[in-house]
Amino acid sequence: MIGLRVRDPLRGVRLQNTHAIRSSEVRDTMAHDVVIVGGGTIGLATGFELARRGPSVTVFEKGRAGRGTSWQAAGMLAPDTEIGFEELALYRLNRESRRRWPDFVERVEAAADTSVDYRTEGTLIVADDRDSAEALRRRYEFQRKQGLEVEWLTGEEAREIEPFVAPGLSAAVHSPTDHQVDNRRLMKALRTAFEVEGGTLYEQTPIEAVVPDADRPAVRTADGERVGADRVVVAAGVWSRELEGLLPDARPPVRPVKGQMLQLRRKRPFDLTHVIRGPEAYLAPKSNGRIVVGATSEEMGFDTTVTAGGLYDLLEGAWEVVPGIRDLPVDDTWAGLRPASRDHAPLLGPTAAPGIVMATGHYRHGILLTPVTAEEIARLIRTGETSEWLEPFSPARFSDAESPRSSS
Ligand SMILES: Cc1cc2nc3c(=O)[nH]c(=O)nc-3n(C[C@H](O)[C@H](O)[C@H](O)COP(=O)(O)OP(=O)(O)OC[C@H]3O[C@@H](n4cnc5c(N)ncnc54)[C@H](O)[C@@H]3O)c2cc1C
Repeated sequence: MIGLRVRDPLRGVRLQNTHAIRSSEVRDTMAHDVVIVGGGTIGLATGFELARRGPSVTVFEKGRAGRGTSWQAAGMLAPDTEIGFEELALYRLNRESRRRWPDFVERVEAAADTSVDYRTEGTLIVADDRDSAEALRRRYEFQRKQGLEVEWLTGEEAREIEPFVAPGLSAAVHSPTDHQVDNRRLMKALRTAFEVEGGTLYEQTPIEAVVPDADRPAVRTADGERVGADRVVVAAGVWSRELEGLLPDARPPVRPVKGQMLQLRRKRPFDLTHVIRGPEAYLAPKSNGRIVVGATSEEMGFDTTVTAGGLYDLLEGAWEVVPGIRDLPVDDTWAGLRPASRDHAPLLGPTAAPGIVMATGHYRHGILLTPVTAEEIARLIRTGETSEWLEPFSPARFSDAESPRSSS
């Protein structure tokens, strides 16, 4: 799409199609303070946080903005439920991002004039036999040691707050601060909010290469056009490694981890209010009646085939903890690709390639990590200063042989 920025007095700045002007003419006459490669949750939110403070920001998206991995996710904002025994630095970042979610929602909803369905009922983690109850108990004790606000429930107590969980559950843990958002509504809202704040979005415009340069880095589009900027941010999710122009040392070690999902449609009297996490599957109910059931975790490269085995596992796992799903219509199925780095933590901050900043590798937490990533990367670009939140996740940990994290 070729676009011109136009100011509409009611809706702010947005793109308008034009066929009279060649795209290269439009881009060459624009001043780009920041160019972002990738219009997913990370690219659009970073663009939004920058644009609202003044810099001119351009996002290049190879397909439709917001329709990459961010569209395929479940929208859980669940650091406490997903706390890993050995990932405490990442857990700290996850918690900080969750703390920022309410303010972020307020800003995005105000700019986009729409709801993102941010829900605060919390998450119920359930166990359906002795083994899973023991695993749940170990996790619960670890969570308590970390000072988390979690509550141990019997199966009956769980049914009091969520009547459609299975009658025979062994135990449950209620995590009231693990919230959720409708990630598809978020993607639509972020796109609008970014444009309303003055950002420019080019869709169907793949970037082939980044061109490092300390003074004026650039990107090269697939049709050979060079677009310079003060800073270039790589937010291309699972495709970040494919960008040309980076030395092997600076290429982000991001690989795809496939997740199959299916979507049920709520049919009254059936209802769920909490996110339910069973030993083999989770169910994330959205206010518009979508119930997202996920997810497999498979190392299959860029394959996104939905398989009978994948769907069978999801349905069985969900049915064991919420048997009432049996009569619900199946709306949709899909598979998404989580952008995983070698240590499963994101790459955030400046790279060895001058002028190029990374915001990628968010693996299974990219929706949760959107506010902290967007705000801290925007701050880094505006002030030149990195922060305590970005430092542990520097991309240099993969290129610096001296770094203790480089081998992890
Ligand atoms: C099944 C599944 C369930 C998940 N559930 C959750 C969850 O509940 N909570 C959570 O926090 N996270 C979840 N995640 C993870 C989360 O979805 C990702 O971490 C997050 O969406 C990554 O965002 P992104 O913006 O980096 O990537 P994307 O959304 O993929 O955006 C990157 C964009 O860059 C574009 N692009 C790529 N290359 C180029 C190029 N060369 N030129 C121009 N554009 C380019 C792509 O088209 C894409 O739109 C889940 C993921 C999956 C697969």
